[in-house]
Amino acid sequence: MLDLGDSCEFCYFCLMRSVTALQKCHAKHREPSLFGRDVVYTDIAPLIAALPSLFHTTVLGHSEKGLPIHRIDYGIGDRKILLWSQMHGNETTGTKALFDLFRWLASDDPAAKRIYNGCTLLCIPMLNPDGAALHTRKNARGIDLNRDAIDRKAVESQLLRACLDDFAPDFCFNLHDQRAIFNVEGTANPATLSFLAPSVDVARSLTAGRKETMSVIVAMNELLQQLIPNHIGRYTDEFYPTATGDNFQRLGHNTILVEAGHFPHDLDRERTREFNFYALLRGLEYLADNQVFDQYEAYFNIPNNALKYLNTIYKNLSIERDGQLQTTDVGVHTTFKRQNGQLVPHQCIEETGDLSSYFSDTVVNAENIQYQDLKLSNS
Ligand SMILES: [Zn+2]
Repeated sequence: MLDLGDSCEFCYFCLMRSVTALQKCHAKHREPSLFGRDVVYTDIAPLIAALPSLFHTTVLGHSEKGLPIHRIDYGIGDRKILLWSQMHGNETTGTKALFDLFRWLASDDPAAKRIYNGCTLLCIPMLNPDGAALHTRKNARGIDLNRDAIDRKAVESQLLRACLDDFAPDFCFNLHDQRAIFNVEGTANPATLSFLAPSVDVARSLTAGRKETMSVIVAMNELLQQLIPNHIGRYTDEFYPTATGDNFQRLGHNTILVEAGHFPHDLDRERTREFNFYALLRGLEYLADNQVFDQYEAYFNIPNNALKYLNTIYKNLSIERDGQLQTTDVGVHTTFKRQNGQLVPHQCIEETGDLSSYFSDTVVNAENIQYQDLKLSNS
């Protein structure tokens, strides 16, 4: 057993990483003031102000509602990496992982030093602070920033694109959350993290740039499989002509999409945050330690995301339809909405019928439960 003492030395064991060492590393560097699904501008502003001088922070610009959007720079190396989170305001796991990452990057860990010397990071934690305040995917004008890469109607899209053009990153990390409805194809597991090397055309051509993106994903996946085997999925590579990642990749900036997803009984996405942190750490370390990124083949061994997961399944629930009492299974997906300032969970009906082919955290025998007592909603 490795004795790690007080320091975070897992990186000394790159070739035989200890899961225990990694978990110690995250426990030590987890940003304690961020928790759960609700991460808004006022949560991160004091953290940015308190970053050590190793980081250079500036205000990149302001959101539609006038909230600052910050830029945090780290490192002096040649490999330029752009990372952003919360371009969808209600997708907060990547932001939590980024602030954990900042704490680790400020440590005396040798891998952090290698990243500092080998890379220059430009981080935008919370690109859409207005959406975060509303807990919505879209910005204050109702624009989905991840479908605005061509038009760039939103000021937030313009700020991100200006960063891309000025900084000219070699690699980008585009941090999102996906819904709990995704399982890893061929397993009963939710897709706790999913990755994508976005396509640059409808033919989904395997370009040199995409191969480089894939090789970073392969490195991250290899580590994660040691921690949560068979909980990693591959997001569809269908070409989205107005999506950010597809366009950035097409413009020659290799873009890794990270979709933070569900881990059983972790509605707060605190376990997922931890795995998201490991993914970022491994991806950056890989980019700092290598010059050639051609180990892409194993990308295609990552199973696809499938759509067979539900937070809760109520079996044999009696529902009145057209005046008749019918028995059916009801699959529920838990979402969060802001009500009177607080995030409130809602149990939304996702699927009905025979759900025996679905997987779930919890299966409830609902034979003796009244439908109306469950307080389920349709959206
Ligand atoms: Zn998203």
